[in-house]
Amino acid sequence: MLNKLIDTRDTRFVIFEMLEIDKLNKYEAFSHADRDTMESVLDLAERMAVETISPVNTIGDKEGCKFDPGSKQVKAPESYKKPYRELADAGFIAVADNPKYGGMGFPHTIAACCDEWFNTACGCLNFYNILTHGAANLIYLSGAEEQKNLYLPKMFSGIWSGTMCITEPDAGSDVGSLKSKAIPCDDGSYLIKGQKIFISGGEHNLTDNIIHIVLARIEGDPESVKGLTTFIVPRNIINSNGAIGENNDVICAGIEHKMGIHGLSTATLFFGDNDKCKGYIVGGKCNGMKTMFLMMNESRNHVSNCALAFSSTAYMHAASYAKTRVQGKESSQIMNPTAPSVTIINHPDVKRMLLRLKSYVEGMRQLMYLLSWYMDMEKVSDGDSKREAKAMVEMLVPICKAGNTDIVWDAVSEAIQVFGGVGYCSDYPVEQFARDCKLLSIVEGTNGIQSIDLVMRKVLMNKEQYNYKTFIKNIMKTIADAKNIVPAVLTEKIENAVAKMNQCLTATGKKLMSGNIGGVSADTRDIENGFFLLSLAWMHLWSLTLTIPKQQQLIGTAGNEERKKILAENSEAAFYEGKILASRFFIMKEFNKYSAYIDAVMSEDTAVLDSVDDIYTGMPVG
Ligand SMILES: Cc1cc2nc3c(=O)[nH]c(=O)nc-3n(C[C@H](O)[C@H](O)[C@H](O)COP(=O)(O)OP(=O)(O)OC[C@H]3O[C@@H](n4cnc5c(N)ncnc54)[C@H](O)[C@@H]3O)c2cc1C
Repeated sequence: MLNKLIDTRDTRFVIFEMLEIDKLNKYEAFSHADRDTMESVLDLAERMAVETISPVNTIGDKEGCKFDPGSKQVKAPESYKKPYRELADAGFIAVADNPKYGGMGFPHTIAACCDEWFNTACGCLNFYNILTHGAANLIYLSGAEEQKNLYLPKMFSGIWSGTMCITEPDAGSDVGSLKSKAIPCDDGSYLIKGQKIFISGGEHNLTDNIIHIVLARIEGDPESVKGLTTFIVPRNIINSNGAIGENNDVICAGIEHKMGIHGLSTATLFFGDNDKCKGYIVGGKCNGMKTMFLMMNESRNHVSNCALAFSSTAYMHAASYAKTRVQGKESSQIMNPTAPSVTIINHPDVKRMLLRLKSYVEGMRQLMYLLSWYMDMEKVSDGDSKREAKAMVEMLVPICKAGNTDIVWDAVSEAIQVFGGVGYCSDYPVEQFARDCKLLSIVEGTNGIQSIDLVMRKVLMNKEQYNYKTFIKNIMKTIADAKNIVPAVLTEKIENAVAKMNQCLTATGKKLMSGNIGGVSADTRDIENGFFLLSLAWMHLWSLTLTIPKQQQLIGTAGNEERKKILAENSEAAFYEGKILASRFFIMKEFNKYSAYIDAVMSEDTAVLDSVDDIYTGMPVG
């Protein structure tokens, strides 16, 4: 289907040619997931994204959410109601979930592709679904059977929605300092008291009830993250017959006025102002962080996917525009006053911008779907395969979260640049993508926090550095596979980059062992940026091992004119040729930035730590 959201052919390339997802159906859990069935789910997701959801993206942005101070209720954009319901009715909230509770039971990789479609169509609307799924999945993975039976069917079908309530005025990145408390009741439930801010989907009228997942501290438990417990707190009481009762003393005090993502309500919530808010433990007492991480990790993957999706649609809009906008003469004709004007896609600098965008989008897509594939392998395999899959998931979650959500801001900016002046105006959708995408680097743990998590916890402090060794082992395997297919100049660049990362981490590990934690913390962003670029280069190399043979088969040694004719007439030939050029561009041009990040770490310069507060001019806030 022609669209400006996603290159459908590329999704099929990653899913079926690269990851060979259809092979997963040898496992019992995916025995129903043959290629035809998966193709039909992807086709439906594409059709709904293009026809049902994308038309409300701009409308919902303009409508926004409205808070009524009298009733304390929030209206989501009216335009969202129909597509929200259709998406939920089609089963898309629970693509990879257990059919026993209403899920479709497909691999996570298929769910990731559907998620990409809905995020490109209207990322804001899809946030409601993802939060609902995240809350439901937390209950599925750590709840009691009666909790699963009570909540999952209603949440997977989108009749009730879900939220994640962590942030408080004095507890943002430092979750352990939150003040919400829980007081035990005789019936085994708890009275919840506290204020949560910035709660996405915290109050709205798209669903009959909202199931809040709330992090709080039971009175008397330790004042650190170790004292936190996770609670299920329905906005409305659920009666014993399953019917929805009165408000559970969860009051919305207002919504934020944001730069973008206008259709998603971001609420301040007061729990238990009247001492009547009932919460129910999920996942065990003082096990709150571990339980909440189930939802946080999923949300991290969701925002990484959103970043891929916004980059994809920004690129597709820019490429479409560049093919129609006529301006200037071809570079070889600039001295010829009678030469005709050409479309801007003919200018080398515009081609450079588009190829750069294409190379990031395709690299991020490969990496995101690979992460999902490892989640599938962690679910169905055992022994060493399971351990390896877990290690790869641990590495790739922060790499994708920080990497994708940083690059989307750059990618959307580049897409606006392709449009020129009109890109800056609201008549064209790319300016909305810019406003919407910035959120992604802030939520679900800022990218600074992701980098610390990656370098400290996932790499340096991981036992025997198994995670890192597994990650590098997989890259080295691709390098070995590529040797007789891909030109040596490309494989050698990645081989050298691996050696550089090894040296960098050895030096950083020594710094950590010497107790210089500040020095390591000052470098974590550069190291994470290095990991992201290395991961994308790895993806492009892997892709080349498949695309080069295909290109040779379809184009062979055809001369220039003949090659052009083949590319014009054969869309498959153009597809593989395009992928090769994007991979070559990434490895030979963009990947040179990798060395800058690693060299910055290896310089051992201490300017960051030497800078005391007083050198920074400006007034304190407040
Ligand atoms: C639109 C929107 C929706 C949101 N939705 C939700 C939601 O649904 N649920 C929810 O619970 N929260 C939500 N949040 C809150 C969001 O998760 C927080 O804003 C985020 O965790 C950062 O916290 P903070 O804003 O307090 O920033 P701070 O923690 O004050 O951080 C400010 C800066 O300092 C850095 N920093 C802080 N501590 C450290 C450290 N130890 N080391 C290095 N750097 C550090 C950060 O990286 C950042 O750059 C939402 C926020 C927004 C804007």
